[in-house]
Amino acid sequence: MPETDQEPAHLSSCECGALRLLVTGSPVHVHGCTCTRCQRGSGSVMRVSAWFPDTDVRIEGPFTTWFYRDNGDPAMTACFCPTCGGGRFFRTGDYLKGCIGIAVGNFADPGFQAPDHIHWWPDRPHWLGNPVGPTLLEGN
Ligand SMILES: [Zn+2]
Ligand SMILES: [Zn+2]
Repeated sequence: MPETDQEPAHLSSCECGALRLLVTGSPVHVHGCTCTRCQRGSGSVMRVSAWFPDTDVRIEGPFTTWFYRDNGDPAMTACFCPTCGGGRFFRTGDYLKGCIGIAVGNFADPGFQAPDHIHWWPDRPHWLGNPVGPTLLEGN
């Protein structure tokens, strides 16, 4: 049976539901980042991202692609629903090449795998306390 016919293990959806990512298998990496750029990119206090092999992700629905202009690497892109702006997924160039990163909140799954570590912990909002589990890093 082809990979794409498998029941998805994880379902990513934007807020309006037009953009969905059907994911089979487990993430190869999950991490969080509380740097100020990730606060802006996520619109929240922390960006938590999970990377899956391209071959494990089926994209359904429309999306807009944003090419990071301040980064020389054209392979770094972010995609999101053109209607509601949600459902963000992305590629990170040489970092985890061949994988698609997905913002973990799109799974709306409280049981989703915890991040291994969180980058730029000192930049978090002052009221955010230490989580149990992930290693807290001062930078990248
Ligand atoms: Zn949407
Ligand atoms: Zn960050």
